Amino acid sequence: MTAGCDGAADGPTAGGEADRAAVPGGWAALRLAEFLERVSVLPDASAAASAAVEEAAEALEAELVGLVGAGGVLAAVGYPAGRVPEAELRAAAAGQRPQLDVPGVGPCGVLTVPVVGEEATLVLARSGAAFSRTEVGLARAMARVLGLTLGMRRMIDAERALRAESERQGRERARLLAEVRGRQRLLERLYAIQRAISHRAPVQDVFDAITEGASVLFGDQVVGLRLLDEDHPGSVRLVSSRGLSPAEVEAVGRSPIGEGAGGLAVAEGRLVVWDRYARADAPIEHFARAGLRAAMAAPVHQDGQVVGSLVVASYDRSDGYGRDEQSMLLAFAEHASIALNDAGALEAMRRAFDDAVRRATHDHLTGLPNRTLVLDRLGHALARAARPQQPVSVLFIDIDRFKAVNDSFGHGAGDRVLREVARRLRDVVRPEDTVGRLAGDEFVVIGEDVGEGAARDMAARVAAAIAEPMALEGRELVITASIGVVGAQGSSDPEGVLQDADVAMYRAKEQGRNRVQVFDQALRTVRLARLDLEHDLRRALRRGELAVHYQPAVWWPTGAVIAVEALVRWEHPDRGILPPAAFVPVAEESGLIVAMGEQVLAEACRTLADVRADRPELDAVRMAVNLSARQFADPDLVDTVAAALLAAGLPPEGLWLEITESVLVEEAEAVSTFRALKDLGVHLVVDDFGTGFSSLGYLRRFPVDVLKIDRTFVEGLDSSAEDRAIVSAVLALAGALGLAVIAEGVETAAQRDQLDRLGCHAMQGLLFGPAVPAAELGGLLARLQQPGGLRAAHGAAASSWAATRSSTSSRP
Ligand code: C2E
Ligand code: CA
Ligand code: CA
Repeated sequence: MTAGCDGAADGPTAGGEADRAAVPGGWAALRLAEFLERVSVLPDASAAASAAVEEAAEALEAELVGLVGAGGVLAAVGYPAGRVPEAELRAAAAGQRPQLDVPGVGPCGVLTVPVVGEEATLVLARSGAAFSRTEVGLARAMARVLGLTLGMRRMIDAERALRAESERQGRERARLLAEVRGRQRLLERLYAIQRAISHRAPVQDVFDAITEGASVLFGDQVVGLRLLDEDHPGSVRLVSSRGLSPAEVEAVGRSPIGEGAGGLAVAEGRLVVWDRYARADAPIEHFARAGLRAAMAAPVHQDGQVVGSLVVASYDRSDGYGRDEQSMLLAFAEHASIALNDAGALEAMRRAFDDAVRRATHDHLTGLPNRTLVLDRLGHALARAARPQQPVSVLFIDIDRFKAVNDSFGHGAGDRVLREVARRLRDVVRPEDTVGRLAGDEFVVIGEDVGEGAARDMAARVAAAIAEPMALEGRELVITASIGVVGAQGSSDPEGVLQDADVAMYRAKEQGRNRVQVFDQALRTVRLARLDLEHDLRRALRRGELAVHYQPAVWWPTGAVIAVEALVRWEHPDRGILPPAAFVPVAEESGLIVAMGEQVLAEACRTLADVRADRPELDAVRMAVNLSARQFADPDLVDTVAAALLAAGLPPEGLWLEITESVLVEEAEAVSTFRALKDLGVHLVVDDFGTGFSSLGYLRRFPVDVLKIDRTFVEGLDSSAEDRAIVSAVLALAGALGLAVIAEGVETAAQRDQLDRLGCHAMQGLLFGPAVPAAELGGLLARLQQPGGLRAAHGAAASSWAATRSSTSSRP
């Protein structure tokens, strides 16, 4: 491939686009900076020439590089000494060899670049991939630098000779000296630009280095760099300038392609030189009127296409621009091109990097910092606070009943609420405070230099801002938040601080929501105790300290056992048998509940299978196992259940799974898990029915089989008409939906009889027996089944009870 060029007109270069512009680090700029550094400091012309061919060969991975002058080959690499095929190289330099056969390598593609001002040509030959546009650009820029260097060298030599010869030619000498200095300055400027690029300066800094350099070099009043305006096709935009007032920048900031020297250089892709500005073809009105005398513009390329121009212009230059100056501007524009290509690549990289960082550290819904960034910011704030008296306070904010918003209005509306809350939080804190979103409906505010008093005020402001009515789906919605506050000076552990704030928030929820709770010593003690407990529980799981006890549910008045409920116990080595209330909450919080639940489930299935094997007449008895919300969210739940049944050899209809109402109300995704469990053949029970949310809509969506009326309603049966009404209503509802009902916590005969009268025959409670260890279960069941134990006989009602949804206990 041959890329002959005169430096003025320059169409797109054909060839392979194995473009290294995309290589991280601004490859071409780095190479050119190296080249400049090496070539421009060399003491004599032949050393500069040798260095140039070496650098070019390395930078462009060319097997052969030769510098061919009028008198022959000046320098070459790639051939053993003395074996350089002069004739071939000359032919290539003359454009007569699109390929060269390099001994030991084979056929190589050829790139030729003129060394402007030197009557020399740089010839590069490479096997494999053709030279890309970026590579051609780099080779051309290298050749220009080399030309400038060689020219300077020659002038310095000439100057020395002159000085030696005579003082008479003083004027000539002064001219030469000035030129030498000019060229030296040019090299310095170019070098500055390359450094700006290779040091990852922002692209605007690179543009400014270019105009600044041109302004110093040419000493002209006006310098401008124009680029195609992507937003306004057909126009060029001034991206950097010198010597223009802000008003002028405003006036000439955008101009049509073809207008002005710069516009024309873009339109025609060539060097434009106007010695009489006012008389030129298409001057810019403003400048013509302002009395601009001369202007010169060179095209700037990107990926081989003209994308802009570099313009210098003067109000007092009466003799226009000489050849040297023209070649200087071209050299400069060439550098601007390289800068643009590489800066473009760098800019793209930087943007991609910034994007990635943003995505990794911000919440995509609200744009707020996410947990990662919050922890990072908190870490820094704590580090600052560790020094003088500079307290840091953290607010942990959780929207109350947010799931209900999602359920009633849909997830889209829920998202809008979260965005609105994010906006309000930002509005109500100082700019220097961090507002972040941790997850779901959990937000956090980090207040720097905020003591406890100020933190309380801040929390009150936040609460008030959130409680402002918001318009949602044409309705007005008032939401509230529970807020935990923690002062964190002196602490060094951001995770710990966040957990403290979380604990305080949790306490605020426990105390009835819509309130602020400051993390205090009492909570700290609770938290530490919880941590200890979690640690012990982990060990208990490993050591098998968890046991399952079983409590029967019976059919009244027959006394036949319908089901047994598995209730977990911790046989603590020091503290004796602990009830679930002492450790299930911690197990849920820490996630240990999943492993724990798996153990309970396996154990319970095994126990019932054993009972059934021993006493076939009990094969209508079901095993009820409690599931926490956390277990329900576990994607492996269905598999775990199936495996437990299989391992125990228990048919699926032998198992009931109990879930509290809140799981059904809060977990919209639970429906599919529910269906999968149903498909498996297990039955589903709503536990603690009546204590949760008021919406009963979920009963239609979820395929449940049994409702367990909460103990609190049973408790009030003999004293409270209201509780009796509630139980009646539940029975009626269940009847209508074809669900079975069990009453829990039956302790007295009065309660039992009241239930019986209301038509509720399935009962569980201390009256019929407490939960007993597996070893005692057989005996308990035998006692219950015995005539005289409770009352006689096993009724047909019990065996068919709850086997289908149509048979219900609620029908009299
Ligand atoms: P629950 O599912 O409502 O279980 C019934 C609770 O009421 C049991 O308490 C039981 O011992 C108690 N109880 C039974 N009859 C009476 C009565 O007549 N009067 C009174 N006052 N109480 C009665 P327990 O065993 O302490 O269990 C408490 C809770 O812990 C359970 O409530 C259940 O939500 C949870 N739980 C128990 N075992 C497990 C388990 O294996 N996994 C999960 N996730 N939760 C469990
Ligand atoms: Ca239960
Ligand atoms: Ca219950």
